[in-house]
Amino acid sequence: MESEKIYERIQNAKLKANRNDKIFFTAVSKTRTVDEMKEAEKISWVDFFGENRVQEAEQKKWPSKISWRLIGHLQNNKARKAVEIFDYIDSVDSVELALRLNRISGELNKIMPVLIEVNTSGEESKTGIAPEKFSELLDVTAQQKNLRLDGLMTVGPLTNDEYKIRKSFAALRELCEGARISTGLKMPVLSMGMSDDFEEAILEGSTMIRIGTLLFGARIYHQN
Ligand SMILES: *Cc1c(COP(=O)(O)O)cnc(C)c1O
Repeated sequence: MESEKIYERIQNAKLKANRNDKIFFTAVSKTRTVDEMKEAEKISWVDFFGENRVQEAEQKKWPSKISWRLIGHLQNNKARKAVEIFDYIDSVDSVELALRLNRISGELNKIMPVLIEVNTSGEESKTGIAPEKFSELLDVTAQQKNLRLDGLMTVGPLTNDEYKIRKSFAALRELCEGARISTGLKMPVLSMGMSDDFEEAILEGSTMIRIGTLLFGARIYHQN
């Protein structure tokens, strides 16, 4: 889709939601070439690149004008590389990972901005911490000196049912509202909404959408 059309849809969703605050745009660049990414970087309202694999990001990374976010599940053994490569890690989903990222960030003299990823849909195929276990992870993450907890992230359910989609996004917003109170942190970021559900996400208070397919076209996965 042409980028002007995407921009227009975002503006329309904001109008419908009666919002005029900034909604950050993460261009999800997994499987895309560096050339495609450099084209996307020229769009004035593209704020970040989002990659879901450490190794792929490492191969593609160049000193770009915009920052890189890790949005995919992070294995413990790739944590060090992730801290080296990424400016933001949006997929903290276990206490063990939070502690490890904190230790490594300390060793590398870095304060790493992070989001906690929550599995709000309950779908088994999805990563993210279960809502029942969220409060423990929140407390641990908020206390780590070398992590800066910026907010929460979720992936909506795989369905066309608008009610279910909005319910899942509303759940993340409510968790975040509670988390701000219990931690005293600002936690301004609610990263939710992808190509198929970003409008619902904006209606439920998303402050960051993550768009791949709409911007770059359908993804082709190469076996290797
Ligand atoms: C791939 C991916 C996206 C983008 O999905 P599209 O449907 O292509 O917009 C967003 N968030 C995460 C976590 C992803 O893995």
